[in-house]
Amino acid sequence: MHISAAYLASIFAVDASLFIALGLLVVILPVLALWFLYEQRKAGACSRRALCTTFSCIKCELIYSRCGIEKEASCPQCGYRNTRLKF
Ligand SMILES: [Zn+2]
Repeated sequence: MHISAAYLASIFAVDASLFIALGLLVVILPVLALWFLYEQRKAGACSRRALCTTFSCIKCELIYSRCGIEKEASCPQCGYRNTRLKF
């Protein structure tokens, strides 16, 4: 059985492109999956953070947060009602 050099080269070319395609698939798919999961987690964290407000107690200097749309919240340590922090 005679195998020509051109035949070997064509097999190698097909194998190489197949190998590259599979390699790209193996690399790209997990990256896309991770990116998708990261974006979902980021969106979830943003919506959770937007619902919470940070308060700083002017009586005992405790910093705490309350979730929901509140303009005032009582301090968990001394009970003083503080207005929301403005930056
Ligand atoms: Zn306090």
